[in-house]
Amino acid sequence: MSKVLVIGCGAVASVAIQKIAQNHEVFKEMVIASRTKSKCEHFASKLNSKNIKVIAEEVDADNKDNVISLIQKYHPDIVVNVALPYQNIPIMEACIETKTHYLDTACAEIREQAGFEYGTQWVYHEKFKEAGVMALLGSGFDPGVTSVFSMYAKKHYFDTIDTIDILDANGGDHGYPFATNFNPEINIREVTLPGRYYENGKWVTIPALSRKHEYMLDGIGSKDMYLMYHEEIESLAKFIPEAKRIRFFMSFGQSYLTHLRVLENVGMTSVKPIIFQGQEIVPIQFLRAILPDPASLGPRTKGKTNIGCIIKGHKDSKPVSYYVYNMCDHEEAYKETGSQAIAYTTGVPAMIGAALMVQGIWSGAGVFNMEQFDPDPFMDMLNKWGLPWKENFNPVFIEDYED
Ligand code: NDP
Repeated sequence: MSKVLVIGCGAVASVAIQKIAQNHEVFKEMVIASRTKSKCEHFASKLNSKNIKVIAEEVDADNKDNVISLIQKYHPDIVVNVALPYQNIPIMEACIETKTHYLDTACAEIREQAGFEYGTQWVYHEKFKEAGVMALLGSGFDPGVTSVFSMYAKKHYFDTIDTIDILDANGGDHGYPFATNFNPEINIREVTLPGRYYENGKWVTIPALSRKHEYMLDGIGSKDMYLMYHEEIESLAKFIPEAKRIRFFMSFGQSYLTHLRVLENVGMTSVKPIIFQGQEIVPIQFLRAILPDPASLGPRTKGKTNIGCIIKGHKDSKPVSYYVYNMCDHEEAYKETGSQAIAYTTGVPAMIGAALMVQGIWSGAGVFNMEQFDPDPFMDMLNKWGLPWKENFNPVFIEDYED
């Protein structure tokens, strides 16, 4: 029976904390701490029960010392970081100093510079090891489940993996001309980066959103999918070293892309500060403030997400083609948690990763990625906790691109 400190109380956190509260066989106490305490209080009063004690706190997680004080006040077994990637490093450092396990759902970023790489977190491996505690990086859906899917395929169906294509498709419609399904600032920073994939031991860089493939996907039909850089390409390339090519594709509608192009052209997606009426502002942070809050999209969003991996390789010298994916219905997710499917598909794996860690099923001292652990218990828990997956050999309904 464990105590968890959740940092952040936005869209993803709202699902993670509800799933933690549901899993009261593992978690007996939860502290929810974020910048805006009223959001934490809302969930604390809703979820506090005889099964789990829930406490609301306020924290500025940009400040390592604030996080240390909070950890020292409650002594949690694990810190689940579902704030923003800017807070990863201060929270990791606080966990090292207090010898507390750590989990996040996205690679660390710094505000002043768009882009992200796991190297900024992997450098903490020795410090976590010395402290005798574990950091689990990227326990969301992508990154997260996509890596677990790939390792499950490798464990059960392949001797060698040649290629992995990750497909993240959203068939949901929220009715707004332009809104993002998770934090707008983080989403737009990611989408406007150059596309990058791994091929024959090297990184190949192409202009942002310049390569499109069309896929016909279960539950959502035909989707335009664009090649993007995503952090799990980096960890998959490290832990499946024989893979010749690893790519990531995400679906975007024409309205989203047109708005994004205009916003980029006029400078609204810039991360560089400007002076406006005597005050320094960062255009993308201003944009974030006027776009719809992703946490408010729940009641408006209809349709499904479909996220999975197409994996090709060999077993017993014979070629194997395998597709594993999850479909998540926005309206069902909203009915259960008050959040749309993007938050749901991230919050559930965050709870699962934390549950496996505190039970010692996934354990170690140091900084780890999802690929380093037995995928089977995670796959079982996905089925149990609301993200059932399907698998398909020789998936003929997918357009087969060989480029
Ligand atoms: P939101 O913007 O909805 O929520 C972020 C939360 O963090 C808010 O509650 C915010 O507080 C809080 N926060 C921000 N800064 C601080 C700070 N300095 N100290 C304490 N709390 C802070 O974001 P999302 O829920 O959409 O995303 C959360 C994380 O999930 C992000 O890292 C995102 O990249 C990741 N993600 C991962 C996915 C995956 O599949 N792996 C998919 C989608 C998202 P306030 O309420 O005051 O603003």
